[in-house]
Amino acid sequence: MLKVVKFGGSSLADAAQFAKVRQIVTSDPDRRVVVVSAPGKRFDGDHKITDLLYLCCAHLQYGVSCENVYGMIADRYRQIAAECGLSMEVQGEFDVLYRKMQQGISQDELVSRGEYFAARLMAEYLGYDFLDAADWLQFTFDGQIDREHSYEMLRRIAGERRVVIPGFYGVMPDGHIRVLTRGGSDVTGALAAAALSADVYENWTDVSGILMADPRIVEHPRPIERITYSELRELSYMGAQVLHEASVFPVRQADIPLNIRNTNEPQHPGTLIREYFEDELESEKNRFITGIAGRRNFSIVTMAKNGLSSSPGSLRRVLEVFERHNLNVEYTPSGIDSVSLVVQSGKAAGCLYSILGELQKEFSPDKLQVAENISIVAAVGRKMACRPGTSGKIFAALGENGISIRMISQGPEELNIIVGVDNADFEKTVRVLYDSFVK
Ligand code: ASP
Repeated sequence: MLKVVKFGGSSLADAAQFAKVRQIVTSDPDRRVVVVSAPGKRFDGDHKITDLLYLCCAHLQYGVSCENVYGMIADRYRQIAAECGLSMEVQGEFDVLYRKMQQGISQDELVSRGEYFAARLMAEYLGYDFLDAADWLQFTFDGQIDREHSYEMLRRIAGERRVVIPGFYGVMPDGHIRVLTRGGSDVTGALAAAALSADVYENWTDVSGILMADPRIVEHPRPIERITYSELRELSYMGAQVLHEASVFPVRQADIPLNIRNTNEPQHPGTLIREYFEDELESEKNRFITGIAGRRNFSIVTMAKNGLSSSPGSLRRVLEVFERHNLNVEYTPSGIDSVSLVVQSGKAAGCLYSILGELQKEFSPDKLQVAENISIVAAVGRKMACRPGTSGKIFAALGENGISIRMISQGPEELNIIVGVDNADFEKTVRVLYDSFVK
């Protein structure tokens, strides 16, 4: 059995967090491959090491001394090493890096050192081997991850060893370090899990799993015990702050379960994500909704024209107008002779008048109008499919609470039910849905 375990920045913020990580890793011999982020914030107002490294880059770029910021970074690692009783010569390593910075270092290489030093320290602390991401995680020249090659390299280098791998970066074919997008250690962990055919990919963070709703809107929402990859995709697309898409793909493709866990509450089972679940937990029996998420600020363009539906290709021609302006249409609820196109207002701002002008010219519609300040809220759940009454319950709950529904959309897969409401009703809608389906 192999568990690939990734720890996020808050799990590595200081020596006390390092100790929790060690406890978690050593309590299970299957946790043989550990991927780490750079140390994150220790308290409100503190700084993430990666942010400080980017700040150093900005100083270097403008020829301003970054000694102070650099000192803060080195201090953090020195303190962790001292309090964990490690022998690594942190100051010496940072002096060498500082000299390299004066001679010229790429931004990617410099910011990658956050993860690099965290992994070096953690490897010593756990008694595991340090395995550099630059030795296996390969990019192609166009910036894509060369998965086949990377997987093969990792399999070859890691073997059966117990290793700590720095997240967030890899190497270009010419040997230069390249970083992933922010939060990219999740991706490194997923790639390592897929490469090594892990039995599970554990992603350790500072929350006990994915929550059923945004905690800024709903007080103490419940964590989701189990969710499918498709539901997760729906929720994250709808704005739930979960994992980066790119970090889900490798494990989903390799059919590896992903378990989100909390370093500060290690007994909590967190959220388990799988392609599908055959059974049903007792706690899931009477619950049809897995989570609720939503996004603000959409615009709905509605065009009505007598005979629109019976004219083949008309919808394509409408969509082409939006495509010409590179504006993504999110939903297209329609009537017999009308179609509505839901777009993100921020993205539409620069081209909306041109689009309306072109629709006017091309279709001479009977009616063309735009509704703004719309929020989209989705109730997501694999168990809604073929179960009569869910949408009825949603509409009844919203109606009873005086929320006017401006738009409805539900795909035939019945994985979600989406309602459009006024921005002013956004938070209330999320709360009403949570209260009627979860509480
Ligand atoms: N340290 C990097 C960041 O802050 C990558 C990561 O934490 O996953 O974005």
